[in-house]
Amino acid sequence: MRILVSNDDGFDSPGLHALAQAAEAFGTVWIVAPEREQSAQSHSLTLQSPLRARKRGDRRFQVNGTPADCIYLGIHGLMDGPPDLVLSGVNRGSNLGNDVHYSGTVAAAREASFTGLPAVAFSLHLDPSADTVCHWETATDVARRVIPVVLDGGLPQRTLLNVNVPNVPLDALRGVRVTTLGHRHYENRVTRREDPWGRDYYWIGGAHRAFDAIPDSDGPLCEAGWATVTPLHSDPTLTSFLAPLRARLSPES
Ligand code: MN
Repeated sequence: MRILVSNDDGFDSPGLHALAQAAEAFGTVWIVAPEREQSAQSHSLTLQSPLRARKRGDRRFQVNGTPADCIYLGIHGLMDGPPDLVLSGVNRGSNLGNDVHYSGTVAAAREASFTGLPAVAFSLHLDPSADTVCHWETATDVARRVIPVVLDGGLPQRTLLNVNVPNVPLDALRGVRVTTLGHRHYENRVTRREDPWGRDYYWIGGAHRAFDAIPDSDGPLCEAGWATVTPLHSDPTLTSFLAPLRARLSPES
């Protein structure tokens, strides 16, 4: 049993090694992870410059690329055979609702799912500006519950599991809930500054504001102390809108 572990926070993130350690109970663990933080890189691939993999130990590599690069390179180039399972995380920060479209953590799992492999992304729901303690042990306890379920029953084709865990001590975790994605709002902040030559430059991105109050969706549940597990498919087609769109755009089809 080969298990490939990656992340988007970088090879030296403690969440990566906590997850790898939890995975050791289920198989031989390989780590292929970015050398630097790649959060919010989504599913980006490095096609215009060379990738270099630096060995950090037995079956341990850091790569000067994105999370999706790491999974691609790990599966097709570095490992001694295909993995049976791919894990991503544990991310320092949650990936709830629409976060999954920006997330490098989720993209690493998605890249694996494209090749037909079962994959799970793990994230710890915390306030990056306020929380000083990361309860990785709570996330890895949830991982020890999720991994055997995936190994025993598999997942549907091109499907990954998106798991978010509240940043609380294990005895404060209320349990695990299988649920849908919700929707998250951030401050749409633009910070304008001036460089030493008088030219404007910008920082984009703001703090978390709120989750939409969608009953039993992932954000509100995770805020309420539940670990959430959402199955995500590679096909985001809105099937309920196919017929109305055809009627408006191409009635002959
Ligand atoms: Mn990250």
